[in-house]
Amino acid sequence: MIQIPYLLQKLLAAETVHIDGKQNQAIEIIHEYFKLNHENVFITRTQNNSIQSIIISNHDNHSYDLVLVGHVDVVDASYPNAFEPFIKDGKVYARGASDMKGTVWAMIKAFEQRINNQSDSNLKVALLISSDEEIGGMNGIGYLVNNIGVKAKVAFVPDGGDNWKLVTGEKGTLHINIDSKGLASHGSRPWLGEHAGEKLINQIMKFQTWFKDRYGVATLQDNWIPTANIGSINFGQSANKVPELASAKIDLRFTSSNQLEDIKLKLNEFFNVPELDLSFSEIALGSPTEVDTSAISVQKWIDVCKEANRELTTQTTSGASDARWFTDMGADIVISKPTCSAIHIDDEWIDLEELNLFKSLITKWINTL
Ligand SMILES: [Zn+2]
Repeated sequence: MIQIPYLLQKLLAAETVHIDGKQNQAIEIIHEYFKLNHENVFITRTQNNSIQSIIISNHDNHSYDLVLVGHVDVVDASYPNAFEPFIKDGKVYARGASDMKGTVWAMIKAFEQRINNQSDSNLKVALLISSDEEIGGMNGIGYLVNNIGVKAKVAFVPDGGDNWKLVTGEKGTLHINIDSKGLASHGSRPWLGEHAGEKLINQIMKFQTWFKDRYGVATLQDNWIPTANIGSINFGQSANKVPELASAKIDLRFTSSNQLEDIKLKLNEFFNVPELDLSFSEIALGSPTEVDTSAISVQKWIDVCKEANRELTTQTTSGASDARWFTDMGADIVISKPTCSAIHIDDEWIDLEELNLFKSLITKWINTL
């Protein structure tokens, strides 16, 4: 009977949700594993805003030829047995099997193989494992890149491209907060006040009209265009008061830096209006990931997969991943995953045989770099 590999089992059984610091447990498991099994690696542990990450490398400063990037935190799972991994029909089931403890395990194993047969090349390789991708990545891989100074020529991030696809682009993200100020009055005498909420909504509707005229409306079939989602609007507490303050949060997604500039100009025009007492601020900003599929390392990944009869088809995605931290430094980026279920669903799974193949292909690929 096939069994779940020991380390994968341990990673999946760790309830690494973002509650009470539990997200960090798998970092500890990985650290223990390397302490026990490998003496000749350089290990760096970091913690920022209670998010832990680990760097394991064959090289002692943080400039690498290749980084293998993963996260071990998972989204909440309220369904039964979410953290009791089991195998059915060759698939490993557990929260995080698909996103992305399965491929983290594969990278760890491929990395081990690499450091065991170091002799032929001095490729500087590092595993970068974080525990906050599901909540933005700023304190994990973002911290490693921006604060620890991690640099890479090639980043392998198997956190997308499900079912042997190759991701060629991930949208960038801009989250903004808008504040509107009016004048309070009693609900029976609205003429004495100025409604902060109505003003805000009017302006948001104007912005949305501009946005849709400019970029169109994304659909299931055609969604590689910018989107704007009004995530929240808040004002008022009672029926009989004209609200003095209002605020809103918008999630904007874009596919290129040019679009971001274009959108920012309009945000200024619509939401930075002193006459209307409207202002906005950025809450979070992430670059889009643009993959150069002609890069040699990317081509080599495609070739290695092809030799194993896994013909990669390309795909763009609306979500972001930790790959974005490597875009600005100009790294080649490979985002690809073996046969697996969708992510963030109950009963997530990854196919164990395909995962094993994926692992051996990473090893093969690393040897070509
Ligand atoms: Zn993920």
